[in-house]
Amino acid sequence: MSNLNEERVLSIHHWTDTLFSFTTTRNPSFRFKNGQFTMIGIPVDGKPLLRAYSVVSPNYEEKLEFFSIKVPDGPLTSRLQHMKEGDPIIVSRKATGTLVLDNLLPGRNLYLLGTGTGLAPFMSIIRDPETYERFEKVVLVHGCRQVDELAYGETITKILPEDEFLGEEIRQKLIYYPTVTREPFRNRGRITDLISTNKLFEDIGLPSLDRESDRVMLCGSPQMIQELRTMLDERGFVEGNHGEAGHFVIEKAFAER
Ligand SMILES: Cc1cc2nc3c(=O)[nH]c(=O)nc-3n(C[C@H](O)[C@H](O)[C@H](O)COP(=O)(O)OP(=O)(O)OC[C@H]3O[C@@H](n4cnc5c(N)ncnc54)[C@H](O)[C@@H]3O)c2cc1C
Repeated sequence: MSNLNEERVLSIHHWTDTLFSFTTTRNPSFRFKNGQFTMIGIPVDGKPLLRAYSVVSPNYEEKLEFFSIKVPDGPLTSRLQHMKEGDPIIVSRKATGTLVLDNLLPGRNLYLLGTGTGLAPFMSIIRDPETYERFEKVVLVHGCRQVDELAYGETITKILPEDEFLGEEIRQKLIYYPTVTREPFRNRGRITDLISTNKLFEDIGLPSLDRESDRVMLCGSPQMIQELRTMLDERGFVEGNHGEAGHFVIEKAFAER
């Protein structure tokens, strides 16, 4: 287990019967960039059962936070959802991932487009001071089916704007746009439709996506990624990665099995 640390669960919050968050202790040797993911899990039959998880907490915090789905028959999450404060949890010593600021070319507006647990990496990015140094506006769009799945809404709208260090930047620069597809809410519809119809831009008062000024990070289902990638390709956006910075970067929120 040399590449793995054993941590302890500090707190658990159940948002719905399919979503929960939890915090853990953090080994000081564990370093990551905001937006990255790591492997976490529990021992099953004497062997670590690990899955990829984006880190929700920013990299300057002492503890780690994760945002998780509950898959009823999922090998890891069918167990993980029952964990309690003080339980051990395995966290890899390494983090990786493409959703990092360095993979994007300079730009004016940063769009963070996430569905479901795809919000997770963006929670650390919106708490990174560098995000606000590099961009004039940061637009966080979170798409879900139902209103109660819009996790972290209060943190984003009430707690972060009052943050001692980042509050002023957040009040001036962060635009939060939650949207749901399956019930009444002030913003409705899929992210792809909100972009193709220009509804998103009319609502937030910014011009439609343009590769000269806008940079995009995508994190969602394989289908959501596919659709948005096609839309960005059509607008001439070039994908970035560790080798070369681009106009947009993507990460699947989960892999289809
Ligand atoms: C780069 C990366 C980052 C990830 N980050 C997160 C994260 O921050 N939070 C998180 O909950 N999961 C995340 N995942 C998914 C995670 O690795 C596991 O798949 C998930 O925890 C379920 O594990 P499981 O063993 O219970 O079921 P699995 O056997 O892993 O998954 C079973 C099925 O459940 C569905 N599923 C899995 N994860 C999700 C999800 N997050 N949302 C909707 N459907 C899903 C898929 O259809 C999958 O085929 C990430 C995956 C990748 C590749």
